[in-house]
Amino acid sequence: MTTVKHLFDEARSASRATLSFEIFPPKGDLDHNTAREVAGGLAPLHPDFISVTYSAGGSGNKHATNDVAEILQADFGTTCVAHLTCAGATSDSISAAIDDLHAHGIENVLALRGDMPAGTEPTEFRFAKDLIPRLVDAGFCVGAAAYPEGHIDCIDADVNIEHLKEKADAGASFLVTQLFFDNEYFYRFREKCTSARIDAPIACGIMPFLSKQQIQRMVFMCGASLPSPIIKLLARYENDPASLRAAGIEYACNQLVDLDAHGVDGLHVYTMNHPDIARTCTEAIRRAR
Ligand code: FAD
Repeated sequence: MTTVKHLFDEARSASRATLSFEIFPPKGDLDHNTAREVAGGLAPLHPDFISVTYSAGGSGNKHATNDVAEILQADFGTTCVAHLTCAGATSDSISAAIDDLHAHGIENVLALRGDMPAGTEPTEFRFAKDLIPRLVDAGFCVGAAAYPEGHIDCIDADVNIEHLKEKADAGASFLVTQLFFDNEYFYRFREKCTSARIDAPIACGIMPFLSKQQIQRMVFMCGASLPSPIIKLLARYENDPASLRAAGIEYACNQLVDLDAHGVDGLHVYTMNHPDIARTCTEAIRRAR
């Protein structure tokens, strides 16, 4: 296996963007067959890497992240990034998480704050920047989240950049963005990162919208702006879910192709565990190159 930082460096010297996918572990006890099915649908597309989300509580199974990443690496030869959140963590729980990552042969970790579990007091791991040095010291290649439209809790765009700079300075060597539906936000954000001397490569996170409910949920959760072409598509296909899904995937493909043409470092598709989405996006990008 190799580090994601190395993959970004290789892609930069070849003047191309990396292509990566995000998946989430199947809910509940890990069903290895389901995990293999998702992985088996994505690995043949030869992404540079696949990242696997982490769920600290609720319905999620936090141990499944490393299991799924290990399956992808060992059975499919795909470089993986395991996500890890730190809100509410203690030094001991982070040490245990690090041991588990090592035991699964994981080299790349996306360090996140996550959401504070209800009713718990903040610990020494208040922000992702508090987790990053621990992971770097433990020998991982560490990435962090970036927010082209600002994080939902941080209204001021300049402060948002300062917080991102702190994560890069703490040792994050690559960044993956929150979803956005208007590439102009990303281009302006990239300029601000350059001005702030944030040099880490940035992969653009793109999520196709599949239904009105999904897009409403995403917009409220992360505060992404909805451009008018999307609002028009939602209105046009209000009673036609299949056409709306197709329009959402096509919209994402167009975003990805435009980003690629603008020389971004990485294209990161939120696949929502749908290999057909990953395939359609990959084909659109490769056809346009
Ligand atoms: P941080 O960088 O710590 O920022 C959190 C907030 O604190 C921001 O508003 C920031 O501006 C503010 N802040 C940062 N530093 C300071 C400071 N020094 N002083 C004051 N304020 C500060 N969640 C999961 O639970 N599991 C996942 O697998 C997962 N994967 C994700 C992948 C990506 C690419 C992205 C973009 C998000 C993901 N999330 C995931 C969601 C993420 O956990 C939330 O967005 C969370 O609210 C913030 O995480 P962070 O790591 O960006 O936090």
